[in-house]
Amino acid sequence: MTSETGESRRLAAILRSTAEAIVAVDPSGLVTLINPAAERLFNTPAAAALGRPLGALNPSLTAWLRRAQAETVVQPLVFSLEVQSGHFFSATLSPVQPDEAPLAAPAAGAAPGIGGGWVLVLQDSSQLRRAEEWKAEAIQSATHDLRNPINLMNGALNLLRDSLKHPTTEQKECLAMLRSGLDRMGSLVEQVLNLDQVTGQAEPALAGVDLRRVAEQVTEELRLAAEEKGLVLSFAGPAQAGRVLGDESWLHRAVANLLNNAIKYTPRLGQVRVHYHETDGQAVCEVTDTGPGIPPAAQARLFERFYRVPGETTRRAPGTGLGLAIVKTIVERHSGRVWVSSAEGQGSTFGFAVPLAPAEGAAPLTAGHPTG
Ligand code: ADP
Repeated sequence: MTSETGESRRLAAILRSTAEAIVAVDPSGLVTLINPAAERLFNTPAAAALGRPLGALNPSLTAWLRRAQAETVVQPLVFSLEVQSGHFFSATLSPVQPDEAPLAAPAAGAAPGIGGGWVLVLQDSSQLRRAEEWKAEAIQSATHDLRNPINLMNGALNLLRDSLKHPTTEQKECLAMLRSGLDRMGSLVEQVLNLDQVTGQAEPALAGVDLRRVAEQVTEELRLAAEEKGLVLSFAGPAQAGRVLGDESWLHRAVANLLNNAIKYTPRLGQVRVHYHETDGQAVCEVTDTGPGIPPAAQARLFERFYRVPGETTRRAPGTGLGLAIVKTIVERHSGRVWVSSAEGQGSTFGFAVPLAPAEGAAPLTAGHPTG
């Protein structure tokens, strides 16, 4: 008893002193614990927060909790939360395992985390964002200058290849090495320029977009790549879909980046599913795979520019670490939000939601600039 009291006191002291804002809710979403950092962040004293819905602290949290509860696998949901205007926090909403029960799929019909509720942890990501912006600006300006020399080298390499009538094995290997190096540099430049385009001042070309059709089209476009890896690729969506006020080519790129990643990181014979659905006035597109999953510590950093998860899986696959940053920027410029839900060894779901255009006669939607 004494040691348990000692342990509880120690835990309470840790919760009080930690810089991270922590809020726990019961299975029905009512706040059961809020630490001082969270009280300050949400400007709500514990007495006013306890026993009230999580959404009372920040209205966006209602939808995030609902999304986490809808997950079929017990795993944390990672997203970015704007707490005050322009002030972003990296948020992780995790199911609380009652006692020391091992992580396991919930019983049929039960929502994950139902036994122990949920815990929300928030870390200030504004400084990280500023550092990231600085890094991106420096790299972007260098990349612009790389475009011309890469084109020149590609031309010269083609000339060299054509002038070698009977190349030796060594010469062939050299040419292949140069080609692969130039291709990688070219794709890095292309991705940086893509990011530049979507973060720039240019407004997206707005029109009524059928995101369901775009998602299905991207699925078909990448079917061959999936089949070459022996993956089972499927698409699911309703027969009828609403419209999103958006830029079709940008939304196409966002879905393609998610699906490309799922195909790239899922080992042979795995499964990849694209799912379009509509909920609460939002068009939702999710890509789920049976790949390696992503360790919890890396999840909060996935949407940063140039971030790649350390480890063998990523090292073996070519990439720039820009694909998800592009997805996030595109989605935010459509006033939407992105998320990832993943557990190591259990695959990943990357998703985004953008508002459906209001029915005819209602006030028009406007797309926004990235919020940070
Ligand atoms: P990259 O060009 O490296 O794929 P992204 O920004 O698209 O860049 O993704 C960032 C990192 O996130 C990747 O390097 C990889 O480590 C990880 N990642 C993205 N999608 C998945 C996925 N479906 N499964 C496992 N890891 C993924």
